[in-house]
Amino acid sequence: MSLLIENASQIVTCHTKGRKFKAGKYQSEIGMLRNSSVYTEGGRIRWIGKKLPASLKKKKMQVIDAHGKCVLPGFIDSHTHLVFAGSRADEFSMRIKGSTYEQIAKAGGGIISTVKATRKSSKEDLAELALKRIISSVSFGVTTIEAKSGYGLSTASELKMLEVINELNRELPIDIYATFLGAHAYPKDKTKSEYLEEILYEMIPQIAKRDLATFIDVFCEKNYFSVGDTKKIFMQGIKFGLVPKLHTNQFNSIGGIQAAIGCGAISVDHLEVMKPSDIKALVNSGIIAVVFPSVSYFLDIPYAPARKMIESKIPVAIATDFNPGSAMSENIQLSMSMAIHLLKMNVEEVINAVTINAAAALGISHNTGSLEAGKQADMVIFDTPNYNDLLYHFGVNQAEIVLKNGQVIF
Ligand SMILES: [Zn+2]
Repeated sequence: MSLLIENASQIVTCHTKGRKFKAGKYQSEIGMLRNSSVYTEGGRIRWIGKKLPASLKKKKMQVIDAHGKCVLPGFIDSHTHLVFAGSRADEFSMRIKGSTYEQIAKAGGGIISTVKATRKSSKEDLAELALKRIISSVSFGVTTIEAKSGYGLSTASELKMLEVINELNRELPIDIYATFLGAHAYPKDKTKSEYLEEILYEMIPQIAKRDLATFIDVFCEKNYFSVGDTKKIFMQGIKFGLVPKLHTNQFNSIGGIQAAIGCGAISVDHLEVMKPSDIKALVNSGIIAVVFPSVSYFLDIPYAPARKMIESKIPVAIATDFNPGSAMSENIQLSMSMAIHLLKMNVEEVINAVTINAAAALGISHNTGSLEAGKQADMVIFDTPNYNDLLYHFGVNQAEIVLKNGQVIF
């Protein structure tokens, strides 16, 4: 099926000029074309320009009139925990009224409450909950999403979560990348060393054998998983063909970034607490720095120094980190707005941070994340002639049509 999006007021291409990601001053370049059209065929972008070539004019195609609208690459949410059961709304209310972490845990809250509810849920129930969240995410312009395990904390439950993610990926028209995050927390029913052994010698081999995940992730933090644990888990993951990504520097700087670089990680995520040596280590490392303004907003913790990282030529991506404990929102446009006002990024930097740089955080920037001939036709048509409106007119969703592989999905 061929499709022409005709005469858009603006097409924001986020073109790469052959780069894998955009860093430094290039993070402000978005390659905007005025009064132009995009032609797609077989799910791929075939042509972008002002006047449709004669050879294409003869073809049978669906036409969408985009006069007065702007077209952007589909957004990529490169870090979420969208598969989970249970609600932590009451715990949220307690925290806002001043309850401590210990009081909340005593009342049955915290990550362990999500683990309990997720363990108890069937695959069907988990998929149904996740599906609602994915549809909501797509409505904000997301066409590719990453989702992690990490609320099972036992081999059977971690595999169950990954199976749900894989089934959703097969059944839905968007791309969903699975990440194994067994090292998210420690379960209550095992010692730390028993659980580490289970991750290394039971979970990782089984996940690899059944091809249930692309990435492997660890929560590298004081009182969670040490740098030593992180390296062990990553080395075992790499042995089994998984690509490392790392939750690090959220509350403390303990050497996670250096460990991630040493293990060839594709991204380091969080980065709220950064020493000058951490920023220095990331320069020229080729690793994507993924930041979550919504987590800092929701938990009232420091914001990642995105401005400083961009000025240091580190490629920055933005994701929602959608999860029940620290960022209960799948609205990527909200994270984009926060990045403007709270991370002091500019509009163009923010757009590249949820398109091409987010694609690079998943290793797929050769295939999506920008509108260029040959790439997947993942696009969003917004009901405004000016892309600045996406962030200027905040708090409302102007996404009108969402396309994945050249097909209207929303
Ligand atoms: Zn996370």
